[in-house]
Amino acid sequence: MQREEILLSNFYDVQASLAAACKRAHRDPSSVTLLAVTKYAKDEDVLALLRKHLLQDVAESRVQQAYARWHQNPLFAPFTQVKKHLIGHLQKNKAAKAAVLFDWIDSLDDFETARLLSIHAPQGKILRALVQIKLTDKASQSGLPLAQARRLAAQLKGAFANVQICGYMAVAPQGAGESALRRLFGQVADAFKADFQQVPHAQLSLGMSEDFVWAVEEGSTLPRIGSLLFNRNLEGI
Ligand SMILES: *Cc1c(COP(=O)(O)O)cnc(C)c1O
Repeated sequence: MQREEILLSNFYDVQASLAAACKRAHRDPSSVTLLAVTKYAKDEDVLALLRKHLLQDVAESRVQQAYARWHQNPLFAPFTQVKKHLIGHLQKNKAAKAAVLFDWIDSLDDFETARLLSIHAPQGKILRALVQIKLTDKASQSGLPLAQARRLAAQLKGAFANVQICGYMAVAPQGAGESALRRLFGQVADAFKADFQQVPHAQLSLGMSEDFVWAVEEGSTLPRIGSLLFNRNLEGI
């Protein structure tokens, strides 16, 4: 198979798994948005899916890489409707650039960073943001423990004119089994329901290639999928 055929079949496989997970959980498939994680993907592969209008939301983990691709590469310029999400940790000294480049900051974990984003957002732009919850004790993992994340979300609601807090994002601990993951996802989903029920554009971003089916069954609205789209069956092709 050609590279593009493999990419398309990866994409449709992920969509079918998402639809099946929604069905099992009695959820409307239109309540779940696929967030395509492009951080390891080749430009050509991302462009192939963009040209077929298959990607509505994309995620990058580094500001600099996103800038090079989405701001400096003319091949990406036509795709202005695609929503760009930042899913990696945002350093304060990159907040100004991020506020211009991204539509969503899904990895917010600090009040001052939100203030900087609001100050630097271009006139008329409302940046949407998720507070990142940390589900492990690992120091290297960013985000805040659940209770602290909920406190930050409450503080941020309505605090800044150009940043709207819309929900939570969390990364599952590596190597946890199905029941432990479902329990963690369920806890975050309960907090999300309690805290963001009435919020327009609310999103709960749980699940990656390895665990998105469980995450969607537990209530994720924005699973983040990279390797199943852009790596699977593509090595050496
Ligand atoms: C890289 C990354 C993903 C995508 O992971 P895959 O396992 O490749 O699907 C999702 N979320 C975050 C925060 C990431 O950094």
